[in-house]
Amino acid sequence: MMLRHQNLVHVLREARQGVLGNAFPPSHVRAIVDENVFRQEQGQIGTLDQFQPAQVGTDLRWDFQHNGAVAFFETWHLSGDMLGITSIDYSP
Ligand SMILES: [Zn+2]
Repeated sequence: MMLRHQNLVHVLREARQGVLGNAFPPSHVRAIVDENVFRQEQGQIGTLDQFQPAQVGTDLRWDFQHNGAVAFFETWHLSGDMLGITSIDYSP
């Protein structure tokens, strides 16, 4: 599953890249690289790729790859205004 501090690493890196003048897409990709390094340091399996998350309606799906395939995913169900998470599903 996604780690809380993984998200912290992501937003700190993304903000730094923005301050350095990078647009959102490259800042986001760089942030994913850093959060995957953090996951590895914490002994977690699975990495996010740069195309995360997939959005379907008010759901955000985060796929974690391991050995070249999606090993598991979690889906965040957002409120109608997209400002809050109402629940999270984990698979498997
Ligand atoms: Zn981001």
